[in-house]
Amino acid sequence: MTLALATDHGAVVQTLNDSPLAVRGMTVSYGEKPAVFSVDMTVRQGAMTAIIGPNGAGKSTLLKAALGVVTPLAGQATVFGKPLARERHRIAYVPQRASVDWDFPTRVIDVVLMGLYRELGLLRRVRARHMDKAMDCLDRVGMRDFADRQIGQLSGGQQQRVFLARALAQSADLYLLDEPFAGVDAATEKAIIDVLKALKDAGKTVVAVHHDLATVADYFDDVFLINTRKVAEGSVDTTFTAENLNIAYGGRLAGAQLEAAAG
Ligand code: ADP
Ligand code: MG
Repeated sequence: MTLALATDHGAVVQTLNDSPLAVRGMTVSYGEKPAVFSVDMTVRQGAMTAIIGPNGAGKSTLLKAALGVVTPLAGQATVFGKPLARERHRIAYVPQRASVDWDFPTRVIDVVLMGLYRELGLLRRVRARHMDKAMDCLDRVGMRDFADRQIGQLSGGQQQRVFLARALAQSADLYLLDEPFAGVDAATEKAIIDVLKALKDAGKTVVAVHHDLATVADYFDDVFLINTRKVAEGSVDTTFTAENLNIAYGGRLAGAQLEAAAG
């Protein structure tokens, strides 16, 4: 099936089949009440998309369903027009930081080398070129000097940079990040956004769950608003509006937060 998609401006930019990530009719439930209900999402190639919504809106669940980490009740995801299972290797995923618990000692460099598992092959032999690539990825996030440190001994922001370095090592085409800026220091936020913008400049597609409404317009091209159901999706200019935020947050936002959208 090839379906032409119109943008807000009416221009046909791509077919559904070309989208780096297209989700159709996605419903996920952990219990009786669905966490994500009948969601359609079409991510634009080469754009940076923010997934926005209140706590418990299903943002993390939507990413996990798109990755096949949780099994949906209904719906499917296609990646670059192909079934998820075939193109899964083109996706790099940085989970929400709190969800990763390091209870055994692991060096920073080993975390990054995990991103190279496809290249390492069956014997998992780390060669000089793998080491160079891993170090280069640490360099890109400003963590080269920490290669031999234990991951558990780093600050939250430093750990987040290391997970981003692991994602970079995968040489993916689509990057899915769950709240990459949550609880990080200003220097880390700057380092991460610079890396994400460089990925975009290189033609990659970035999708991030994002909680800070004040930086949406600065950081992102497109937004996807969700509260269990999809509220709206489109460019920041047309879709990141006070009206849509009110729907997504059920009127629980303060004036200052809404001004971020209007502003
Ligand atoms: P968000 O990322 O937008 O905060 P989540 O996707 O984490 O939302 O959660 C959506 C809903 O699903 C919430 O009500 C949450 O409590 C529930 N939920 C998430 N993960 C689980 C789980 N593993 N088991 C049971 N319920 C879950
Ligand atoms: Mg979440």
